[in-house]
Amino acid sequence: MALKKLVAGNWKMHGLSSDLAEVKAIAEASEAYPAVDVALCVPAILIERASRAVPGFAIGGQDVHFAEKGAHTGCVSAQMLLDAGATLTIVGHSERRDAQREIDADVRAKAEAAVACGLGVILCVGESLEVREAGEAIETVSTQLDASLPHGDASTDRLAIAYEPIWAIGTGKVPTGQDIGEMHTALRQRLVAAYGDAGRSVRILYGGSVKGSNAGEIFAVPDVDGALVGGASLKTADFMPIVEAAAAANG
Ligand code: PEP
Repeated sequence: MALKKLVAGNWKMHGLSSDLAEVKAIAEASEAYPAVDVALCVPAILIERASRAVPGFAIGGQDVHFAEKGAHTGCVSAQMLLDAGATLTIVGHSERRDAQREIDADVRAKAEAAVACGLGVILCVGESLEVREAGEAIETVSTQLDASLPHGDASTDRLAIAYEPIWAIGTGKVPTGQDIGEMHTALRQRLVAAYGDAGRSVRILYGGSVKGSNAGEIFAVPDVDGALVGGASLKTADFMPIVEAAAAANG
């Protein structure tokens, strides 16, 4: 069963008030593609203004704390994201796993907190170049997924996985279609092992240097249910060809 594709942009630490015009332009252009779910995960400080600017369009966070509230300076809770108008959040991005030393147990706790609040979750996993070259990518990423997945069947409704090889993020390098396909098939098996049949409806996105020029080829790979897009999500002209390719792949 083909799942409705999700194309989500990750603006990382980019975006000021002046860029809300770009959010609006992307939201408006996306209306032409109802067969694709489109979302933008913007810096926390822009969420409220972005969601007010584009009612009905999915605005997300890029991280969430696992605690409901408390002494966590600088952090944002799931309830705060919701309150600001977000409908989803990324968790476990490799840049946070690396720079903030987030481990799988943190990522699981964050995903559980977000899902419990009613947020959608894009949970990121992916291997380093060293692991890929050692021939251990599938085993490593499968283990990472098993340890990061939120517990409980209910979470599958709002969960998506993003397979993002670390070496492909922002580098212009992309794995072969065969490598992406083998990884997504392995991750699908892990999702079914964790959630039973409900694991078949969890979308598995690919992320890492997706552009308009390679999106069609990537979306043609079985079990690729969308994309998480960094650099190419900042500008409407770069992002919309990816959404268009997702719509074309839907058939
Ligand atoms: C990302 O950071 O999630 C990402 C996929 O970045 P890029 O598209 O720039 O490689």
